[in-house]
Amino acid sequence: MNTAIFIVEDEPELAALVADYARAAGYLPTVFGDGAEALAAIRRAPPALVVLDLMLPGLDGLSVCREVRGFSDVPVVMVTARVEEIDRLLGLEVGADDYLCKPFSPRELMARIKAILRRTGQGLGAGAPAIEVDEAARRIRIHGRALELTPTEFGILAALARRPGQVFSRAQLLDAAREGNVNLDVADRAIDSHVKNLRRKLETVLPGVDAIHAIYGLGYRLDL
Ligand code: CA
Repeated sequence: MNTAIFIVEDEPELAALVADYARAAGYLPTVFGDGAEALAAIRRAPPALVVLDLMLPGLDGLSVCREVRGFSDVPVVMVTARVEEIDRLLGLEVGADDYLCKPFSPRELMARIKAILRRTGQGLGAGAPAIEVDEAARRIRIHGRALELTPTEFGILAALARRPGQVFSRAQLLDAAREGNVNLDVADRAIDSHVKNLRRKLETVLPGVDAIHAIYGLGYRLDL
């Protein structure tokens, strides 16, 4: 299991306790004591779920949740210190998936997390491989979701996916694009525009993730 969970909580003892329970439940917890840092990390690579304290130094939980909703559907469990705060939050429609009042039992939190991850079972971190290339059907799935690709885009992404983390030159990607596309005439420069389109398509299934990196002077690399 490889289900990453972010715990955004500025009380270190509580954060450590929740992280211990999360690890025991088989998740991979990361603790953030600061709202802005957590937001940046979620933008870089959204986890399967976020446990978000309302009162945080700097950027509060409410602002973090609103910002996150601008680019991701990652489930959020909002934690507040006052039970009456939950009604206000519900009225504000901040977009959290569940609310929990302090003091809460870590067991209860784990049960809520499990329920949400079961409900959103199609989402990221649900067990489907990050990327699956079906050469026969010329189809690529990201976390179980099929991408609509042109033959050229398929050739490029399939090549990158065969060796994630390795840099491919434009010429290599051009060869890959030509594979199985006999009549294709792709100019070297055109690789950049195909990669641009690929990035846009990947962004729809991997919000906030920069999957294809341009390496200056060399080419491109897939990081997934
Ligand atoms: Ca707090």
